Amino acid sequence: MHCVVGSGPSGVACAQALLQKGLTVRMLDAGLTLEPARARAVEKLGVSAPADWDPQLLALLKENMTSTAKGIPQKLVYGSDFPYRATERHVPCTFEGVGLRPSLALGGLSNVWGSAMMPYLDSDLAGWPIKSAQLSEHYAAVLQMTGLSGRKDDLAIRFPLHTDDPGNLDLSRQARTLLSRMERNKAALNRNGIEFGAARVAIRAKRAPDQPGCVYCGMCMYGCPYGYIYNSASTLEELKRHERFTYQPDTVVTSFSESGSDVTIRAHERVTGKTLELRAVRLYLAAGVIPTTRMVLESNNAYDQTVWMKDSQYFLIPLLLSRRARNVPQEALHTLSQLFLEIFDPEISPYAVHLQVYSYSELIGQAIRQSLARFGLNFDFAARQLEERMLVVQGFLHSDQSSKIATTLRRDAAGRSHLELKAELNPAVKSTVRKVTGKLMRQAAKLGALPVPPMVEIAEPGRSYHSGGTFPMRQEPGVFESDTLGRPHGWRRVHAVDAAVLPGIPATTITLSVMANAHRIASESAALM
Ligand SMILES: Cc1cc2nc3c(=O)[nH]c(=O)nc-3n(C[C@H](O)[C@H](O)[C@H](O)COP(=O)(O)OP(=O)(O)OC[C@H]3O[C@@H](n4cnc5c(N)ncnc54)[C@H](O)[C@@H]3O)c2cc1C
Repeated sequence: MHCVVGSGPSGVACAQALLQKGLTVRMLDAGLTLEPARARAVEKLGVSAPADWDPQLLALLKENMTSTAKGIPQKLVYGSDFPYRATERHVPCTFEGVGLRPSLALGGLSNVWGSAMMPYLDSDLAGWPIKSAQLSEHYAAVLQMTGLSGRKDDLAIRFPLHTDDPGNLDLSRQARTLLSRMERNKAALNRNGIEFGAARVAIRAKRAPDQPGCVYCGMCMYGCPYGYIYNSASTLEELKRHERFTYQPDTVVTSFSESGSDVTIRAHERVTGKTLELRAVRLYLAAGVIPTTRMVLESNNAYDQTVWMKDSQYFLIPLLLSRRARNVPQEALHTLSQLFLEIFDPEISPYAVHLQVYSYSELIGQAIRQSLARFGLNFDFAARQLEERMLVVQGFLHSDQSSKIATTLRRDAAGRSHLELKAELNPAVKSTVRKVTGKLMRQAAKLGALPVPPMVEIAEPGRSYHSGGTFPMRQEPGVFESDTLGRPHGWRRVHAVDAAVLPGIPATTITLSVMANAHRIASESAALM
């Protein structure tokens, strides 16, 4: 039996590849799920049209989510924080200036993710022992699982789509305004190192009017009542139908050891705390970078030794459109990323800088109103003016240009261990983000939108959730490094398949490549004895 820890995106990609290779797979998962009352509300809304939704149920699913000019403090789903719950007890950590959190949920952080998906470029893979060509067939396999909406536009010249038939989502009016101005000025923008196109998101688009797919109800940020945003829980449901697959929920893996031909896995039941021991031929760690790092350090008995977690720096740049789109609060639209801009400019970074453009959503409206209230401005009029012009850019830098996180396993006097995560700030981040903003400012006429520098926000390290690299893959791994099959130094039957093994974190979204790499490792290790 081959064991996979975790049902998030990397876990399901790994499990599926192992099954395809004819192996028997058991998935061990902490597996927290949505509270029943909220699940019932989702179910009810999911079988009716938005116009028929019960306002009380809708309010329940929007509960507890707030946004400010600094962004959304914590993205919830269906009003619930279950994706982040119970971690203090099962994955004890301390955080100093770090925004990243682990998940013990069924589906992991894919319950809350923004579903933006771009592959990695070879030029962004400095220090990697593999090239993007080695991921290509796995990108394609993974996209079969997740689905992808996007367009065969100019972005596909550098960033292959890896699918012949992407879904086609309607752009919002604000996004269309920006895109059409950029199209008109394409040659000049390209000459200035700005490439752009429709966002690539794992949202299911309608293939025909009578088929299931996005209805543009604007609920994306709260959780799609129809389940049209990819969540790895849906792949898990498919895996469960396979005769060689078993799913063991409520199981928290803590450590492992190897002897000859198998791995002993130590775990406890999430609810009762009862300890468990299991055996496997191979173990695949797909628990997310924090829990995987913790398990590997614990199993190596590596206390008080720091490994470095890399992070793709996250920042927000508000943009004001030169043309307004009237009555945006009434518009039928999706509220995940609408457009991608990729900046290739050696004056800013030797790597691609990735920008995701978001147009109006209720949460952007809320942030605008909250900011205006602070200045005591004529609330409604000013808010409407801004809403009709405001776009938000979520930007990401390559990890080599970002801050990093010192990650150390500590033990207290009572013998309890915890993982300590401490940010180490890179002072160059501010000037890099300033250069990105300056570049957009200089291209404002060609973009048809103007950045608002005083409102630029640089988030704390880890806040992007594009973090990993604690045991980077190397051709010849040393201590606290992994081989190209994700095996941390010293282990033969234990493979880390999540972001923990990425040698660096390019800016262009993490999950697609993490899934592809997990799929690759599982496919290539399946034949090992
Ligand atoms: C708000 C938000 C927005 C995001 N947006 C994007 C985006 O647009 N694009 C993008 O590429 N990425 C995005 N991400 C990041 C993305 O969600 C993660 O990269 C992805 O979920 C990682 O998948 P994973 O399977 O490696 O880990 P996780 O999703 O963290 O899943 C971990 C799994 O392991 C299980 N587990 C954990 N510890 C244990 C244990 N000890 N024992 C047993 N089971 C365990 C959990 O139950 C869970 O099933 C976003 C993240 C957040 C929070």
